[in-house]
Amino acid sequence: MSEFVIPAPPVPAVPVRGGGLFPVRRIFCVGRNYAAHAREMGHDPDREPPFFFTKPADAIVTGGEMPYPAATSELHHEVELVVAIGAGGRDIAETDAKAHIWGYAIGIDMTRRDLQAEAKKLGRPWDMAKGFDHSAPIGEIVPVGNFGRFESGHILLNVNGAERQEGDLLDMIWSVPEVIAALSRLVELQPGDLIFTGTPEGVAEVKRGDELEAMISGLPPLRVRVV
Ligand code: MN
Repeated sequence: MSEFVIPAPPVPAVPVRGGGLFPVRRIFCVGRNYAAHAREMGHDPDREPPFFFTKPADAIVTGGEMPYPAATSELHHEVELVVAIGAGGRDIAETDAKAHIWGYAIGIDMTRRDLQAEAKKLGRPWDMAKGFDHSAPIGEIVPVGNFGRFESGHILLNVNGAERQEGDLLDMIWSVPEVIAALSRLVELQPGDLIFTGTPEGVAEVKRGDELEAMISGLPPLRVRVV
C-alpha cells in the first residue's frame, strides 16, 4: 500500500499537559537572547538582530533520561522557554504573533560546548555542537489558553539540587513576539514548529549521573538525568 521504500520514521511528539501529543515538525533556537549570557560567551549584547540555528525534530527527549552524547568532553545545559507553534505563517507581525502560539514548555538546549568553540574558531557551522541526538530535552507543553500573557517569570536550572542558571523571561533581548516575527521573515513557520528562545547566564558543564531540574514559573518542571 505504502510507496515508502523503507519504513517511514515515526513523528516525534511532546506530551501535552492534560492529555494528547504535540507533533514536532522542526526545532528552531535563538542564539544569545539574554544580555548576561551573551557577555559570558564573550559577546557584546547589543540589539543585533536575533539569529537562529536548528536541531532535528527527533532530538527531543521526553523521558527522564538523556544519554551522554558522543564526541564531547564538555556537555553544557541551557535552560530555555520553548514556544510551540500551532498556526503557521510568514512575515508575521509582532502584534499578531500570539495568535500563532499553541503552547509553552521548558526545554534544555544541550550543547557540545567544545565542538561549538572549535566551530566558532574555524568559522564552521554549529550543527554538530547543537543538533546532535537527544540534544533537546523538553517538558510537557501547556496550551496557551492557560495563560493570559506569558512574558515574565522566573527561569532557573539546578544541577544536583544546586542552582546554576537563574533569570527572568523579561530579560530576553528579543521578546517572544519579536522572535516569531523575525523567524517568520526567514522561513514560513508551520504548525508543529518549536522555538527555543535562548538561555540566561550560568551555562555550565554536566557529567554522567547529574540530575538537571529546569523550572519556569507557571510551567511543569522538567527533570532530566544524564546517563
Ligand atoms: Mn540556547
